[in-house]
Amino acid sequence: MTGPAIAREDLASLLKWYVDNGIDETIGEEAIDRFAAPPPAAAASAPEPAIAQRPTAPTPIRPAAPFPARAPVPLESPQLVEDARELARRCATIADLEAAIRAFEGCAIKRTAKHTVFADGVAGAPVMVVGEAPGADEDRLGKPFVGVSGQLMDRMFDAIGMSRERDLYITNILFWRPPGNRTPTLAEQAICLAFTRRHIELAKPKVLVLAGGTAAKAVLDTTEGIMRMRGKWTSVRLDDGSEVPTLPTFHPAYLLRTPASKRQSWLDLLALDKKLKELGVR
Ligand code: URA
Repeated sequence: MTGPAIAREDLASLLKWYVDNGIDETIGEEAIDRFAAPPPAAAASAPEPAIAQRPTAPTPIRPAAPFPARAPVPLESPQLVEDARELARRCATIADLEAAIRAFEGCAIKRTAKHTVFADGVAGAPVMVVGEAPGADEDRLGKPFVGVSGQLMDRMFDAIGMSRERDLYITNILFWRPPGNRTPTLAEQAICLAFTRRHIELAKPKVLVLAGGTAAKAVLDTTEGIMRMRGKWTSVRLDDGSEVPTLPTFHPAYLLRTPASKRQSWLDLLALDKKLKELGVR
């Protein structure tokens, strides 16, 4: 690439700015100048219709290319994942599962957490939201998504007429707050995911919404970044053979740091609303 020389420290601070704004992946070798004039044919074409007027093609369930799979994670204690799977398999109801998780001692972060944070909203609601892990407020109150990012999430769903009191069932892949809100380790994710997958089977949502990159990568078992996954319908196949239409989207905490991305999240909410209508749920 040619261009004016950029000082090393300026480059470093530009990269840091990108990472702080959630831009942590390269998606192409060549930079695209989005401010360049469109080619004449495109420039002459009719203006884009507003979102509400666009023809509504049925929502595809799977993306054209499935997301790349994660390599198996070498775990220090694979037995703990097996134990969690076995315990989860034996649970016949959500109440059984909650009791099993509360009694489970195989995840070390439980020892530093104040509460086990299981779920909120309506078990059996059409939409199940899975986030990453409880933060400080959730740990203090024992409920998922009750801090500032949860409040933003509530306002976003409210904008399409949905609430946790009526239409949503909310949980996380982790049931305990990682100390200092650090990203959960792959081992912690693998152990808790065994319970979360069973949680989804038992709650039987019509649609799953994965909030943020950590939850999306864990549940979809992929290395793909959230920047590429968000807004693309896929599906999760559960151990009981059922498949749930699934929409990865940005985490509300990311939106608080990067308000400009709310536009994309709004498109995701509209896609969710459309899918629920197609499924005859709304
Ligand atoms: N972030 C999450 O991913 N989950 C919560 O419950 C709160 C914040």
